[in-house]
Amino acid sequence: MATDTPTYLPGLPDRLFDAYLFDLDGTVTLGDALLPTAGETIVRLRGQGRRTLFLSNNPTRTAAEYAARLSRLGLPTPAEDVINSSLVMVDFLRREMPGARLLVVGEASLCAELAAAGFELADEAAGVDAESVDAVIASFDRDFTYRKLQAAFDAIRGGARFFATNGDRFCPTPDGGQPDAAAVIAAIEACTNTRVEAVVGKPSPIMAAAALARLALSPERCLMVGDRLEDGRVVWAERRHGRRPDADRGDERGRSECIEHSADLRGAAAERSTCEVRRWLSGSTWCGCSS
Ligand SMILES: [Mg+2]
Repeated sequence: MATDTPTYLPGLPDRLFDAYLFDLDGTVTLGDALLPTAGETIVRLRGQGRRTLFLSNNPTRTAAEYAARLSRLGLPTPAEDVINSSLVMVDFLRREMPGARLLVVGEASLCAELAAAGFELADEAAGVDAESVDAVIASFDRDFTYRKLQAAFDAIRGGARFFATNGDRFCPTPDGGQPDAAAVIAAIEACTNTRVEAVVGKPSPIMAAAALARLALSPERCLMVGDRLEDGRVVWAERRHGRRPDADRGDERGRSECIEHSADLRGAAAERSTCEVRRWLSGSTWCGCSS
């Protein structure tokens, strides 16, 4: 990866933020490779003394594993510079339901993180006593089965609460994409007629708050870079207007407005066929662009 005066970066923007938060899948990486210009952009920002933090909704690996992958790809990254939706879910449940017994419709990495955090996990394969489950956690699950759906159905009908790690419809891959957690959530919602209570990944303010706490910076000093315009919905208005952060998932009643339509950060994001450069963390304002 070239790091000296990359010619495709036309120059630094007029304003640099103190910290840049990057989505991973489809923004910095695709599969196990860096996307063109992403690495150089991050190296250059770091060279300017700017913090970089990676925010991923993907719960199929741990933050430490994502950090190790970035490091292997030439971007030395400590684990504490990565936050993903499984990490946020652990913190969320510690606050919301400490000691809860969980039914996880998700993959091994998420299960391991929740178990390591002290939560008891119901084993769907061994048969679940629905009444004993405190919460169902829906997630990106490439081993999703009817049996898991039945277990989630029984648990929610038995009174369990219903949360999800992320609401992505698909995860970008080199082959096109994989159905993501939105499909799992939708299946459970459809049969239980119960709406998921909270989705902790982007664009939830729950994840934004985790990022800001990690950086110890105010929102105005940060820029979020991602690849999906649909993430630009809702975002931060709930916090600003004193509503519960998860109360209006997918609702655009928040007073979002696009304040500028040019990329503050050229390079990785600006070269995506569809991109957004979103002031996600700066209140109810965001910016998206398609190039
Ligand atoms: Mg993405």
